[in-house]
Amino acid sequence: MTAPMSHPRYQSLQIRERLVAGVEAGITSQEGLIAHGRGEAFDYLLGERTTDSAMNATRASVAMLLAAECPVLSVNGNVAALVPGEIIEMSRIIGAQIEINLFYRTEKRVRAIAAHLRSHGASASEILGEQPDASLPLDHARSRVCKDGIHAADVVLVPLEDGDRCQALVGMGKSVIAIDLNPLSRTAETATITIVDNVVRAIPNMIRLARQMDGLPEDRLIDIVMRHDNRKALKDAIREIVSQWST
Ligand code: ATP
Repeated sequence: MTAPMSHPRYQSLQIRERLVAGVEAGITSQEGLIAHGRGEAFDYLLGERTTDSAMNATRASVAMLLAAECPVLSVNGNVAALVPGEIIEMSRIIGAQIEINLFYRTEKRVRAIAAHLRSHGASASEILGEQPDASLPLDHARSRVCKDGIHAADVVLVPLEDGDRCQALVGMGKSVIAIDLNPLSRTAETATITIVDNVVRAIPNMIRLARQMDGLPEDRLIDIVMRHDNRKALKDAIREIVSQWST
C-alpha cells in the first residue's frame, strides 16, 4: 500500500513503508521497526522539523567530520533502508568510510545491506563490515568491527545508536556523533555531539553543509566544534519540544 500524497501524515507513512520494505528485503530487523516507533514519537513531539539546536549540532558535526583523520559512518538496517544513497554521497564528500555494524547481526543481513548499498552506487571497497577483524569492549554483536574502520576511527557517526556502543566508543577515546530523535537517551547524553533530528532530514542537511564547509581551514573547523556544547544542545532540544506545544 502506498500512502496518498494528500494524507496529512504522508511523510511519516512513507518512512514506515520504506522500513517495512526493508524488513521484507532482509535489511531491517523487526526490532528496528520498534526502535523507529520510539523515534517517531519524539519526531511528532518535535513537530517533524529540524530545530535550530539540531541545525547547530549538524554544523558542528560536519566540522568534526571534515577535520577528522579517519572518519567512519556506521550503518545499520534502519539507516540502510531510509537513506542508502545519501550515506554514500556523504561518505564521498567527507572522505569517510562506511561500515555496517548491527545489534541483531546475522551474516545474511550484513550481506543484504552491503548488496543494497552497492545497488545504490557504492563500490565493494567502500563498504566495510562484512568481515570484522577487531572488537569493541561489548558483550553483544555490535562489538564486531573492522580494524581499519570503526576500530581505527577518530570520529564515528552513529545514526540510531544503542547507548552501550556509544559509551564503548567514547571510552576508547573516539569522538562520537549520534543522530537520535530522543534527547533523553543514553546515546544522546553520551555522544560527543548529538543531532536531535530524523536521519531522513539530518543526513541531507549534513550533505548540504559539507559542500558549503569543505575547504574551510582546519583551525576554523576545530573552533566550530569546540564552541558546541552537547549538554546545552540537549536542553535546547527539550525546550524546543515544550515550546512547540505551549503556544
Ligand atoms: P539508549 O540505549 O541510547 O538509551 P535506546 O535503548 O532507546 O537508546 P534503541 O532502542 O536502539 O535505543 O532505539 C534507537 C534510537 O533511535 C531511539 O532513541 C530512537 O529515538 C532513535 N530513532 C529511531 N528512528 C530514528 C530516526 N529515523 N531518526 C533518528 N533517530 C531515530
